[in-house]
Amino acid sequence: MTTKKECQECGADISIPDDAVVGEIVTCPDCGGDYEIATKAADKVELKAGGNSWRRLGTVIGRDLRNLRQGAL
Ligand SMILES: [Zn+2]
Repeated sequence: MTTKKECQECGADISIPDDAVVGEIVTCPDCGGDYEIATKAADKVELKAGGNSWRRLGTVIGRDLRNLRQGAL
């Protein structure tokens, strides 16, 4: 049986494979948000938000733009 967890970003179902291990990254099929498996027991899985990859990319670009404006690049 595959465990399903609700995405904290968009509410879609994220399937957690039975053989997934703690520390593994699962990705939401709908919004692409990354989650790390924080704990895993027989019938209970807790996800830790790994951040939305696109949002993370936006943060990096924003920082670079600020650096660019300040002449740091
Ligand atoms: Zn999602």
